Amino acid sequence: MITYIGTRNKEITASASEAILRGICPDGGLYIPKEIPKMDCTPEQLMQMDYRQLAYEVLKLYLDFTKEELQYCITHAYDDKFDTPQIVPLVKKGDALYLELFHGRTLAFKDMALSILPYLMKTAAKRQGMKEDIVILTATSGDTGKAALEGFAGVDGVKIMVFFPEDGVSPVQKLQMTTQEGENTCVVGIRGNFDDAQSAVKQIFTDASLAEELLQKGYRFSSANSINIGRLVPQIVYYYWAYIQAVKQGEITWGQPLDFTVPTGNFGDILAGWYAAQMGLPAGHFVCASNDNKVLYDFFRTGTYDKNRAFHVTVSPSMDILISSNLERLLCHMGGQDATQAEMADLQTKGIYKADITDNSISGEYATEAETFDAIRTVYQNTGYVMDTHTAVAYAAYQKYKAESGSNTPMVIVSTASPYKFTKDVMTALDTAYAQKDAFALMQDLEKVSHVPIPAPIRDLEKKTIRHKNVCEKTQIREFVQNWKW
Ligand SMILES: *Cc1c(COP(=O)(O)O)cnc(C)c1O
Repeated sequence: MITYIGTRNKEITASASEAILRGICPDGGLYIPKEIPKMDCTPEQLMQMDYRQLAYEVLKLYLDFTKEELQYCITHAYDDKFDTPQIVPLVKKGDALYLELFHGRTLAFKDMALSILPYLMKTAAKRQGMKEDIVILTATSGDTGKAALEGFAGVDGVKIMVFFPEDGVSPVQKLQMTTQEGENTCVVGIRGNFDDAQSAVKQIFTDASLAEELLQKGYRFSSANSINIGRLVPQIVYYYWAYIQAVKQGEITWGQPLDFTVPTGNFGDILAGWYAAQMGLPAGHFVCASNDNKVLYDFFRTGTYDKNRAFHVTVSPSMDILISSNLERLLCHMGGQDATQAEMADLQTKGIYKADITDNSISGEYATEAETFDAIRTVYQNTGYVMDTHTAVAYAAYQKYKAESGSNTPMVIVSTASPYKFTKDVMTALDTAYAQKDAFALMQDLEKVSHVPIPAPIRDLEKKTIRHKNVCEKTQIREFVQNWKW
């Protein structure tokens, strides 16, 4: 049975169920598998599987659930909530393969993990004999919030509270969250950025007195952010899936490398890819793509992580992050707990640390705003394919990587959002004349140029009632949580 240990102290251990319920270690570290398991199916077996069967083979290695429990979680998560039976299409356009992770209800890749996390949490709570209700606290740069709300709305025994940067998300993202239905949901705009929200929420998770106060009222906190191992593990599945599809489509034969460029914020998505490679997937190189908040690019180039810099609000808001939490997991796999503990202490006190990068399968690239716009326009002109702004950052990063490395290994661009979430910037990239129109009118135009119908979940978004109007200072998040009338 798999054991999880802390990234800052290896004496902190947990079963999978405990790790999912706690979200974060008591000392603020993250849970990692003590040993990354190896895939136990043959390529021939994997090639026969649909998405759900593949998810089962990956997840069973990381969880302490029975076969029945796990199959229940998977069949309820990956069903017709996704608008294609493949769940995740791999589409070839021009010089790249696009792994479209945005076919779920909220049109972003966060749905891949957040459609299953509520089931994993309920199962874990049952296994642990937990009596309290769960309060999910979530900091979001735009997409996690909606995907978590959609996953947890109406779920018995769970309340969910989401904090988003009031001025740091797209109009569609904001409306998706503020119109959320469900008596157990609470959405709060904060006057601050994503890092402020994430830091406050992480602090609450390690705040023993607040935890005790909530426990008296019959609640326990947990996390739907990618610091929760229950978020990370379901994301490993689609790296296997991409590889299998690339073989089926004749791009590679089994055993040949397949590279991935991943638009990165909190480092969760790309870390899942790295885990897949450690499990035995013959993946090639991983390009970690950043926008102007290129703290990870600098880190992979220099070995110094320095968050002391200006924060940029960009057209790829879900990557506007200076503290990439999941990097801590990679650091620990490479350098062990003692080094990680020291690095994280430096990050806390000085905002900067140095680390030895012993694994060269990941490198960094970044794209400026102009390069992001250029990528959207060029790919559209050459192929007719319309990408969202985050995917465009990855595409631009791929072009730089290709020029630098001279590599011609097939490349998967991990496509994290539908262009319909970011219509204004996407359409403006195609033609500046569109800049005059509002984000919602532009959906019709996007439909015309892309020939992809407006996705059902956002077709009537503009007509929905705004149900959440809470706003809170970044310094008052703890108070807000404490005083909320559960
Ligand atoms: C969350 C998100 C990312 C970044 O993913 P991480 O796992 O945080 O690195 C990239 N693109 C989109 C659209 C996202 O929602």
